[in-house]
Amino acid sequence: MRVRFEVKDRDVAGRLARFEVNGRRLETPALLPVINPNDPVVPPKEIGRMGFDGVITNAYIIRRHEHLRREALERGVHGLLDFDGFVMTDSGSFQLAEYGDVDVTNREIVRFQARIGSDVGTILDIPTPPDAPRDRAERDVETTVERAREAASLDERPPLALTVQGSTYEDLRRECAERLAELPAAVYPVGGVVPLLEEYRFADVVRVVLAAKSALPPHRPVHLFGCGHPLAIPLAVCMGCDLFDSASYAIYARTDRYLSVLGTLRLEELREFPCSCPVCTRHDPGELREMDREERTRLLARHNLHELHRVIRTVRQAIASGELWELAESVCRAHPAAWRGMEELSRRGEELERWVPGTRRSVFAFDEVSKGRPELRLYRRRLRERFGPLEGRRLVKGLKRPFAERVEWLEPWELAFADEWLGIVPGELSWTYPCHSLVTPGDDEGEDRRRGEEGRRR
Ligand SMILES: [Zn+2]
Repeated sequence: MRVRFEVKDRDVAGRLARFEVNGRRLETPALLPVINPNDPVVPPKEIGRMGFDGVITNAYIIRRHEHLRREALERGVHGLLDFDGFVMTDSGSFQLAEYGDVDVTNREIVRFQARIGSDVGTILDIPTPPDAPRDRAERDVETTVERAREAASLDERPPLALTVQGSTYEDLRRECAERLAELPAAVYPVGGVVPLLEEYRFADVVRVVLAAKSALPPHRPVHLFGCGHPLAIPLAVCMGCDLFDSASYAIYARTDRYLSVLGTLRLEELREFPCSCPVCTRHDPGELREMDREERTRLLARHNLHELHRVIRTVRQAIASGELWELAESVCRAHPAAWRGMEELSRRGEELERWVPGTRRSVFAFDEVSKGRPELRLYRRRLRERFGPLEGRRLVKGLKRPFAERVEWLEPWELAFADEWLGIVPGELSWTYPCHSLVTPGDDEGEDRRRGEEGRRR
């Protein structure tokens, strides 16, 4: 069993990486469309042609249906789905959360996932709902960790996904992550967040993910289980989540809902398609409304997949060009609940400091939320901890950046500048990162542009 996670580029705590399991590759951040093995709305092969390297399907459902089970055991899960990219499987934990019971043991479902050749298989963890009583959350974490140990000890097991639980208790999430981190895993999912996402509790999602992430090893991808929400993805990637999955593309399509940059829209309220995917360039909303239900669902599902793929590609590019935080801020502006998530991330920026790259081309800052971004916090901390005493310098207030260029009567090392965003800037650091790369609404016009462009040219 060979598992590699090779990080190519980073921004905030997000990683651009290549995840490789048994020779199958996945470029991350990645979104895995959920395939219902009984009724795939879009054939997996076609999903692959749209640009998705991987999918996720449910081993519990496959095992329960005789015809699926037989075929998966004979031809493997890749044969069953007719898809030879990366296939991750889920274990039935979702059904456990929904219906309270499943008729399979952890050992059985882990072995079954190995037998059908899953590239990554999931343990039968216990998803605890948000705000559950403390003792229940503790018990569920205990069972989840026991099951992870049991799975790791089996001879017949796929590369494992060991899911972090702990409800909305940050300390339990951290503890669960610490204990799972001691076991060999291919992926560490953060589970039990679907109810939070459904209720738009983005700030709680931030708390839960940061707590888990603080104890998970950096050399493995983190999967935010059940998250395929375009508003949440950039925020989650900022915290270091690498994998996402989405059943919403199909569920929404069945109820005539359309994913877009403007949020989830109803087909009946669309006057035009704000998208350039093949579905939206060939049809207009009126045509779709006229179609029979099945054809409309297929087309809407395809559009929804294209939209999710656009979101993921945008996130990847933002990491490559060092603009992930800016992207998350702009995406979260689409909804006050998402913005609360961004505010929470900014308040907790300290926890991201250890992940941020040493420099960036440009740092855009708009308001209090940007002020909490880890790059600016890191500068303030390092100045405090590493820079010598600033006594004896002339403190200059009220200047616009670039500071030192504006003062000619003293040498830079005799000066320190007071700055709204950075605190104190010693004169000789005013040409360096992040002071020189910082672009704020208070900057002079023109100046702004010159420095921003310079930064972007790298
Ligand atoms: Zn479209």
